[in-house]
Amino acid sequence: MHTHTADVVIVGAGLSGLCSALTAHEAGKSVIVIERAPIEERGGNTRFSNGAMRAVYRGVEDIEALVGEIGEAERARADFGEYTREQYFDDLGRVTEYRVHPDMAGLLIDRSRETMLWLRAQGVRFLPLYEWQFKLPDGRIKFSGGSAVECLGGGDGISTSLFAACEKKNIHIHYDTRVLSLVEDAGGVHGVMARSDGDDVRYETGAVVLACGGFEANTEMRTRYLGPSWDLARVRGSRFNTGDGLRMALDIGAMAYGHWSGCHASSWDFNAPETNELAFGTVFKRDDYLAGIVLNANGERFFDEGADIRSLTYAKLGRAILAQPSQIAWQIFDAKGSAQLHGEYRVRQSARFQAATLEELIGKLEGINREKAVATIRDFNAAVRADIPYDAGRKDGRGTRGLAIPKSNWALALDEGPFEAYAVTCGITFTFGGLRIDTDGRVLDADARVIPGLYAAGEMVGGLFYFNYPGGAGLMSAAVFGRVAGEGAARA
Ligand SMILES: Cc1cc2nc3c(=O)[nH]c(=O)nc-3n(C[C@H](O)[C@H](O)[C@H](O)COP(=O)(O)OP(=O)(O)OC[C@H]3O[C@@H](n4cnc5c(N)ncnc54)[C@H](O)[C@@H]3O)c2cc1C
Repeated sequence: MHTHTADVVIVGAGLSGLCSALTAHEAGKSVIVIERAPIEERGGNTRFSNGAMRAVYRGVEDIEALVGEIGEAERARADFGEYTREQYFDDLGRVTEYRVHPDMAGLLIDRSRETMLWLRAQGVRFLPLYEWQFKLPDGRIKFSGGSAVECLGGGDGISTSLFAACEKKNIHIHYDTRVLSLVEDAGGVHGVMARSDGDDVRYETGAVVLACGGFEANTEMRTRYLGPSWDLARVRGSRFNTGDGLRMALDIGAMAYGHWSGCHASSWDFNAPETNELAFGTVFKRDDYLAGIVLNANGERFFDEGADIRSLTYAKLGRAILAQPSQIAWQIFDAKGSAQLHGEYRVRQSARFQAATLEELIGKLEGINREKAVATIRDFNAAVRADIPYDAGRKDGRGTRGLAIPKSNWALALDEGPFEAYAVTCGITFTFGGLRIDTDGRVLDADARVIPGLYAAGEMVGGLFYFNYPGGAGLMSAAVFGRVAGEGAARA
């Protein structure tokens, strides 16, 4: 058995783990990061992500502080607006049905801006996020509030920049090493036991930061905690996030906290593999449901496609699809809708069907109730409020009238061929259930007492997300809580 020693030991080399590592190192501590994946597959869900980040900002100058100077032409093209802490609290509260823990929300929101500036200082580069914003009638873009920037190079970009920062600072990362348990006694946590290349490895330390993700890639835990059919969800990110850290912490009496039966899950191409691979990235993302309607195998609509802007609705859509017969649905577009689809819809692997007429299109969808599907589309078209003008520049209120399930905004009749259908299923992104931490990132036990020497960050933090999630808050919380845990661990 090998033994390693460091002031701070971090489990997991995703965004939260790397932020913890860099922060503890800044405080003068020796740091070792332990990562289960081999070096080629390093980076966790962070590397799979799109790189959109939700932070407080006040106007274009705050965006410039992150992306560099925005020229006159670009300024003229876009209205960047602002995203205040009040708006952030409001969005986070609303989508989580006001269950978000105020301390967790406060940390995430109040430290979001300084953390973005810190990430930039670490070498992460940002760009304005023009996609998914409101499109004004004059062709300009109006930022819809929330994720205003993305990382250059997406999730791969942020990962690469932070690994480079760690290498520059000589922070050791032990790859291909799976942490299996915590070393603890009545005095707290003093290390971890890991396995690498068939060998047991012991890490001795004053502080352990668990930053090793949720249980999204663990079929058994998904079924146990999320419920029936979750074994059938496709995994959108890393195959390594199997809940090891949560299990280890619960084993020593940590408090389970947050929405353990909840998760972030979205619409994902039916042709996607069971578990995603880095080579595919986000090509299976199918988030343009706002541009059309979605039918299940009964030929019926089952949710309001225009309930709100995409970033506030897409993360709960996977659950709705999973609840449908055979866990399948079809996104249906006419020519107007197809024109709005993002590039990933066009990839070779896409489960796409095309036809000149709606009847012909529906005839190509195997397993759907065809008669009902055609009737549903006919009824939908007749229910569209043609008296209200369509406006992609805001929530336009152009909905449907008289349907059991309305489409509340951006409703357009599907009446211009050619028509397209995309078969989709549920893709799970990450789980919401986590550990109870205090505002210093310290893990609490089931009696709400601090477990000395144990910290948690990223997807492992419970109490932030319930039912749904505002887009861009996953990376932001990973970075903020990574920093918080790194600071706490350095003080330990
Ligand atoms: C397809 C996709 C797109 C996304 N897009 C966005 C987006 O645009 N914006 C946004 O905000 N969020 C997005 N997210 C969510 C975001 O990626 C996560 O919320 C965030 O990256 C979580 O960071 P983390 O550090 O907690 O976990 P991770 O980045 O997953 O890191 C956890 C690490 O722990 C390692 N690990 C696991 N078990 C062990 C063990 N036993 N021992 C050692 N190491 C272990 C894993 O290998 C992994 O490297 C997306 C996620 C996916 C999958």
